[in-house]
Amino acid sequence: MPFTKLGLSKQIQTAIKEKGYKEPTPIQEKVIPLFLQGHDIMAMAQTGSGKSASFVLPILELLSKNKTHTKSRIKVLVLTPTRELTLQVAETFDIFSTAFFEKPKVVALIGGESIGNQLYDIQQGCDILVATSGRFLDVLSKKQMNLSHLEYFILDEADKMLNLGFAEELELVLAAIPPRRQNLLFSATYPEKIREIASKITKNPIEVTIEEKQTVEKIHQRVIEVNRENRGPLLRQLLKENQWKLVLVFMANKRATDNIAEKFRKYGIQAASFNGDLLQEERNKTLSAFKEAKVNLLFATDIAARGLDIENIDCVINYDLPRSPSDYIHRIGRTARAGKSGTAISFISHEEQEHFKLIEKRSQISLKREQIQGFELIGEAKAKEKGPAPIKGKGKSKKDKLREKALKEATSQG
Ligand code: AMP
Repeated sequence: MPFTKLGLSKQIQTAIKEKGYKEPTPIQEKVIPLFLQGHDIMAMAQTGSGKSASFVLPILELLSKNKTHTKSRIKVLVLTPTRELTLQVAETFDIFSTAFFEKPKVVALIGGESIGNQLYDIQQGCDILVATSGRFLDVLSKKQMNLSHLEYFILDEADKMLNLGFAEELELVLAAIPPRRQNLLFSATYPEKIREIASKITKNPIEVTIEEKQTVEKIHQRVIEVNRENRGPLLRQLLKENQWKLVLVFMANKRATDNIAEKFRKYGIQAASFNGDLLQEERNKTLSAFKEAKVNLLFATDIAARGLDIENIDCVINYDLPRSPSDYIHRIGRTARAGKSGTAISFISHEEQEHFKLIEKRSQISLKREQIQGFELIGEAKAKEKGPAPIKGKGKSKKDKLREKALKEATSQG
């Protein structure tokens, strides 16, 4: 179905064309008409599905049509789990509202920036408020924000918000906004807790689901068996062999991302780290450099797993495996965005075999194990406390000796 059939005005269609979208994604095709009809919606949508535009477009349409709206009052509240997603959603509103004569004012509320300035921005006139829930509640507690004109409430990536403790905050949010409003809730998964939250927020919602496969199928998923100490050298080898421009590498902890980025820079690779310790300004700078391919290799913690929207990531590497299957899906969803294809590679050693099997089972996938020449998995699964498996001993082959040399060169981070 083309965009022309979704009930959107000429103005918005022009903005869509300018943005370069040719046809709606499946989630947009379903959500846009329902939202325009005034329904509450619970949508199960995967990352990269085009979900932001599925609410941004009808909201802009409804705001532009309704002449009884009070100008410069908060009419839309979007809550998201991360700063990056907040900024991206706010930007999406900005991009599509350029076609309007009276452009609605969008304010993004995120941590790491001055609350005073954010309150000032709101008081200067705000139509659309996009916020992380924590910062929204901080600003709310100042009691200087008028939410009595609110008409649309969107909860984005509700499952992730729940993990961040949103269930307790929800009552505070609901007490602050008018009971009569239109609601939309997005979640990648629908455990019982999300249904509980949905029942508090929405009224007779229409449920929309999009096949997960439609997004994930475009990702070439690979699993490479490699000893943990050999992951760094293997990564360098893969970078040499492939023509990847942007590679996102997920690591288990913040310090590791800094250490390994520094190591790769020493090898002359444009690498940077991205983790929760960075100031907001540094986060923005790093992401811009990555988007512009001034940085080619980004080592990140899971804060980059959701919400991060960079169109041309060629490959996602799970240097360390994610904890949960849903994190796996979110991580690999950073590639193959906006209709493109991409590769996702998980490094697994003996210790990760069982955990990866669990990820496969829950995600209903089954992936072939590969080994790369010169980096073959050696040794056996060891007891946790024992440290790296010894590779010393008599009768070593030439290959083993080479491997040992590589191991010596490499530290545990790479
Ligand atoms: P989202 O799931 O909202 O984060 O969107 C994922 C990516 O898809 C973003 O880069 C969007 O700009 C892009 N996108 C959204 N809708 C479309 C569309 N209809 N055609 C092409 N790209 C799209």
